[in-house]
Amino acid sequence: MSAEARVERLAAERSSEVFGRSVEGRPLRAFAFGPENAARVTVVLGGIHAMEWIGVDAACALAERLAASPPSDRRIWVAPLVNPDGAASVAADLAAGRRRFRRANARGVDLNRNWPTHWTAARFGTRLVPFLGHSGSGPASEPEVRSVLEALDVMVAAGSTIDRALSLHSFGRMILHPYGSVWRRPHRYDEHRRAAEALQSSIDGLHYRIRQSSRWVPGAFAPGMELDHLHERYGALALLVELGSGGLQVRQPRTWVRPTRWFYPPDSEEEVARVLPALLAFTAAASEP
Ligand SMILES: [Zn+2]
Repeated sequence: MSAEARVERLAAERSSEVFGRSVEGRPLRAFAFGPENAARVTVVLGGIHAMEWIGVDAACALAERLAASPPSDRRIWVAPLVNPDGAASVAADLAAGRRRFRRANARGVDLNRNWPTHWTAARFGTRLVPFLGHSGSGPASEPEVRSVLEALDVMVAAGSTIDRALSLHSFGRMILHPYGSVWRRPHRYDEHRRAAEALQSSIDGLHYRIRQSSRWVPGAFAPGMELDHLHERYGALALLVELGSGGLQVRQPRTWVRPTRWFYPPDSEEEVARVLPALLAFTAAASEP
């Protein structure tokens, strides 16, 4: 099932809010659980990158669980597919048998380099590898990012605090925390570590490594990430989870040339099932003392 179809199936079953439109006019949907006027809010984002459908699956599965047992002490706001145009291009590639890397939105912008915190125009790497996408014409230049920010700002204006944020990507079995754009440690570094460790230890039977995003690959700084902005602008304890080990198998050359498989391997459902309870505990702040 395509990422878009997964979200639309959920939207047919549950009430959702269209909080904006993509460049090509696709709806940006969010599903919210818990009291509307809750003082604290968790934000969950999925599908920022075009091919990373496992994150969309995980966000939808999370929403289904939250619908079955909503939190009583916080609001959890889930936007499972932030880049629907990118996901639709991947679906079209699959249908046509094209093997292509895709990451960006319809304007070629990497939506995870377009957030205002530490945004920069220049990205050396994108000139070498165009599919990576560029960072946009300015901070939050893209409707997908701007719509998320507007939705969050409405919550903040209503008096809520966004104190937790989770963004779901693939792949690498990593739990990343801020910053992605600078080497220095985030505010409340220990708290981020503890939350990441709690998440790590509640993943059933799989090992996810923990890193500060900017220190994963030393020297590879990522300005304009959601992780940094959610932390810096809203003060959220922010984690990014790279789901799955990837579908590239060294001994199976067929998998080398199927980029979609790398980011959304056939065993994604099993991976989501194992990680889901840990994601649920983090979003509901169940790990807090
Ligand atoms: Zn990603």
